[in-house]
Amino acid sequence: MGYNAPMKIDGQRRSENFQDRGTGRGGGGGGGGGAGPALLTFVVRRFGLPGVIVAGLGLLGIYFLAPDGIRQALFSAMLGDSPSGAGGGVAVPGDSACSASPANMSACDFSRAVLGSTEDVWAAQFGQGRLPSYGGAAPGAYPPPTLVVFSQSVSTGCGEASSDTGPFYCPADRNLYIDPTFYDVMARQLRAPGDFAQAYVLAHEVGHHVQNTIGAMRVAVPGESDSQTSVRVELQADCLAGVWGHSARSTLQVSDEDLAEATNAAHAIGDDTLGHRDEATFTHGSSEQRVRWFRRGFETGDARQCDTFSVRDHAQL
Ligand SMILES: [Zn+2]
Repeated sequence: MGYNAPMKIDGQRRSENFQDRGTGRGGGGGGGGGAGPALLTFVVRRFGLPGVIVAGLGLLGIYFLAPDGIRQALFSAMLGDSPSGAGGGVAVPGDSACSASPANMSACDFSRAVLGSTEDVWAAQFGQGRLPSYGGAAPGAYPPPTLVVFSQSVSTGCGEASSDTGPFYCPADRNLYIDPTFYDVMARQLRAPGDFAQAYVLAHEVGHHVQNTIGAMRVAVPGESDSQTSVRVELQADCLAGVWGHSARSTLQVSDEDLAEATNAAHAIGDDTLGHRDEATFTHGSSEQRVRWFRRGFETGDARQCDTFSVRDHAQL
């Protein structure tokens, strides 16, 4: 494949809707997380050790000048404690999935940049009402999801999950979940390398969040099996990932090679390519379908073109 210039994420802001649940090895019991460790690794990455010292001095300054409430919040943020206290676990300072390895560190930073980009794109799309409609009230402003990074296993509003599941979205708690080592799995096991391919996977999960918000996950198609309806949901999420790609194309300087990486990834995770032979058991769609719906979103930049539910005949998807 040769060398491909990476996507430009340097100037992209990093999302704050991010939680590091750690490695789970410190006896934290599922709680913990927070922006502290992630912030630290980010500062180290971007500005080196002098940056940490400057940031540390800055934080200390804020800490001593701040009113009590903010001081307490800052303190828990620095310890890596979850500000909401959800999960109730005892945070273990320094237990961070992001800082477990240099690869994880850059995976976390990259994910936060992509997430920030999806927030910008979907806030604009929601603001303009450029969305397919499934009855009910107009969705209003875009409610950004939180990205939870974890190592090996995690407890979610949808039950316990392990890294083997791959990245996923839980509609019940409206969080995205990813083990940062997944990008490596993509490159090695799924033969889908490349940063835009990684971004596509995240954007696909964000697509599920968009679907959840606009009611697309509750659409029942009469006469269809659950797995057939699941294919509609998955192909729509691919198309919505493409809509993000369309809008982010210029800011992130997405090249044709990047696009090829993403469609290669979409192809690599198609049900048929993954070895699911029987079409009746497909839950995500064939490789050809996934690439086609992604491209549809990417080329039109219009989420209303992603209405897989309006395709009457399942065979025409
Ligand atoms: Zn999906």
